[in-house]
Amino acid sequence: MQQINHHKKLLSRTEYYDWLKELPEGYCPFCDTKNNTVIKTGVLWNLELCLAPYWRYHFLLVPKRHIKVFSEISPAELTEFFEMVNSTMQILESAKLTHLNGELINRYLFFWRYRGVQLDPLYNVSKPNHFHFHIVPEKEHLWDLVADKDATKIDLEQVRKLFK
Ligand SMILES: [Zn+2]
Repeated sequence: MQQINHHKKLLSRTEYYDWLKELPEGYCPFCDTKNNTVIKTGVLWNLELCLAPYWRYHFLLVPKRHIKVFSEISPAELTEFFEMVNSTMQILESAKLTHLNGELINRYLFFWRYRGVQLDPLYNVSKPNHFHFHIVPEKEHLWDLVADKDATKIDLEQVRKLFK
């Protein structure tokens, strides 16, 4: 098998895309137990720092089992998931971490993505399909820059019909 470059430090987004390009077909970085961004290990989940963070203190909760979507989580995994979210948030809240500008981090965003396709055509790389749940510090108005000014322009009745 091709040599995998395990990192001792976090990567910029550009470094991350370069690293993804080198990965052999079928390799899952989240299943690799030598992944050195693991911060805390549970029975069924790992708490990791995001290898290529968007912002400082960007964490991921990753199930040890290779699942692809949230609905594949087992009842036992769901129980530990809630425990790990709660304990992570308690630790982060009491740590009084700050943004780069010194502002106290007191707001977090939680999300996971569904990807219809794994290929990122911009960088021509495939993203890992192993489910991971993001926990990231957020700032008020962070999304103002990317919010679509025409987001209100949808037909409500048409959407209701979709769900009938
Ligand atoms: Zn995996």
